[in-house]
Amino acid sequence: ADADIAPVLTTRRDEAMGFFQRMVSKGLGWARKYSLFTYPYATACCGMEYMSVAASRHDIARFGAEFPRFSPRQADLLMVVGTINLKQAPILKRVYEQMTEPKWVVSFGVCASSGGFYDNYAVLQGIDRILPVDVYIPGCPPRPEQVLDGLMLLQDKIGNQVHRIADREQPNPTAARHDLLM
Ligand code: SF4
Repeated sequence: ADADIAPVLTTRRDEAMGFFQRMVSKGLGWARKYSLFTYPYATACCGMEYMSVAASRHDIARFGAEFPRFSPRQADLLMVVGTINLKQAPILKRVYEQMTEPKWVVSFGVCASSGGFYDNYAVLQGIDRILPVDVYIPGCPPRPEQVLDGLMLLQDKIGNQVHRIADREQPNPTAARHDLLM
């Protein structure tokens, strides 16, 4: 049902925006989707596959997302790669909070998305319990092609979002409902 009303909402939102605003939004969306700076939060075996995506054979540079940033303040894409245990969850959330708006989150592999095999007391059963996830990439580990597919999905999403020059000053509307459960 959400998918059915999405085009209607998009049209109404576009009508409410002026021509100039629309052009600015599209320009910002285009620029942002092709200049993603990734913070790779890699904890486990999926990290190997993340590295292969960045290597020359799959060439993530084609998508403008080749430069990892190891400071959250310089990153706008949080790539959560691997198993997240409960002790790491507050650290991961802190990393997310330190990133500036606008920002996006990709869940890389089944462990990050749902806990995967580790259905136990020590593992977070999906990072969406603490973070707003934009794209889930399935697989154990995901193949590089799946990762690139997920990246293109995210780029589509970014391109279709409403962007404003002052985005960084706006609080993330989804942040409140993702207050840490611990
Ligand atoms: Fe390892 Fe599979 Fe979990 Fe990735 S999804 S961290 S490959 S067990």
